[in-house]
Amino acid sequence: MRTFFHNARLFDGENDPVNGMSVVVEGERIIEVAPDSDELREAAGEHIELGGKTLMPGMTQGHFHADYGGLRLADVGKAYLSTQKPAAYNVAVAIENLGHALQSGYTSVVGAACSFDIDVSLKMAIADGRITGPRIRACGLHINTTSNENDPNSWWIPAPERQDGLQIVGAELFADGAEGMRKAVRHQLRRKVEVIKIFPSGGHGIDFPEHLRSMTHAELEAVITTAHERGAIVRGHITTKSMMLECIELGIDIIDHGDYLDEEVIEAMVKAGTMYVPSMLFLKKLMPSGEGELARASQLEPVVRSFEHLRKVMPLVAKAGVIAVPGDDYGLEFMMHEAGGYAEELEVYVNDCGIPARDVLTWATRNGAIMMGMGDEAGLIRAGRLADLLVIDGDPLADLSLLRRPLETIDMVMIGGKPLKDRLARTVAAKGKAAAMAAG
Ligand SMILES: [Zn+2]
Repeated sequence: MRTFFHNARLFDGENDPVNGMSVVVEGERIIEVAPDSDELREAAGEHIELGGKTLMPGMTQGHFHADYGGLRLADVGKAYLSTQKPAAYNVAVAIENLGHALQSGYTSVVGAACSFDIDVSLKMAIADGRITGPRIRACGLHINTTSNENDPNSWWIPAPERQDGLQIVGAELFADGAEGMRKAVRHQLRRKVEVIKIFPSGGHGIDFPEHLRSMTHAELEAVITTAHERGAIVRGHITTKSMMLECIELGIDIIDHGDYLDEEVIEAMVKAGTMYVPSMLFLKKLMPSGEGELARASQLEPVVRSFEHLRKVMPLVAKAGVIAVPGDDYGLEFMMHEAGGYAEELEVYVNDCGIPARDVLTWATRNGAIMMGMGDEAGLIRAGRLADLLVIDGDPLADLSLLRRPLETIDMVMIGGKPLKDRLARTVAAKGKAAAMAAG
């Protein structure tokens, strides 16, 4: 199948947009990117006349909990995550949420933990054409140590028996010691998990003192080495500076949240190529200026401290060239997975942190593809790359809020040359003289 886009405002994923561009897609790839010309258009025959609409790479959601479907903050820490509903219900939620991501212009998602092997299972179902959805880099369970912050406070409720040293319940896996961590990671690798999720520290809008830790150095090393030996990557929920530096040194691939990162951490990340998901929407939603009741329910002081700190350092993150990717804990009751919901996070980096919209969209496109492990294959509009594309009615670089209304503003979502959402008409160019006369 061949698709020819004519008269696009082209945002290629990293440079300023250019008007009057043509892009040709054949099979699953982009085969040509060139200025509009009559020759190109006539040779193409049927084409899509974009009339200056924006053509840009599909975006990546870098922290995706597919099965979060309205989790209440007040319930976190009371019971094991993802045990509130039966397994099949969680699957239904995940299918719905993957649809929201696709509708919102996300052609890829990087898992940040799920229950019941949902990421790997739905990835199979999408590959087999049973459901439509974005590309998935699949995560699995949270890998925890006993009594870390994901081990519920309600310790008097019986927990499942350990099997071979591993305790699995809902979205959680508990293990201890380096040998336990190796077993935990291999348990996940056997299930085709590609992204291992760990909790080196607690915190993120709640206090977690700098001198505390949730994993030993030997446990961290065991996880990262075991994952890397088999080609998986490791992402860590980390908020303290010392733990970030220790994990970067050990070769962790993604730092999530990173509430207290500073210039020293940024420098270490750039040197090591560590990726970063700031996830500031979560904090913004809990700020006093945010939704009133919610703000009161949160422990305000740590939220304000984290948000204000990140607000100041994010321009340094952008300037230093850290591989930042947007993504957040969508599916909490106050920031649901929904069409357009993800755009609110992009606006935080632009409006609160003062980072140019183009940079933030580069995080979502070019950097997102890097986080997917497809840095040479997708994320930019270039000949030879996979055709994961969006057509936007308007210019998101000038007005990011367009992405908040994707049902109105996104005319096409294409993955690997296949339009999964498409309401653009095809026209056939008149040839030769007739065309010249018609054009006057
Ligand atoms: Zn998360």
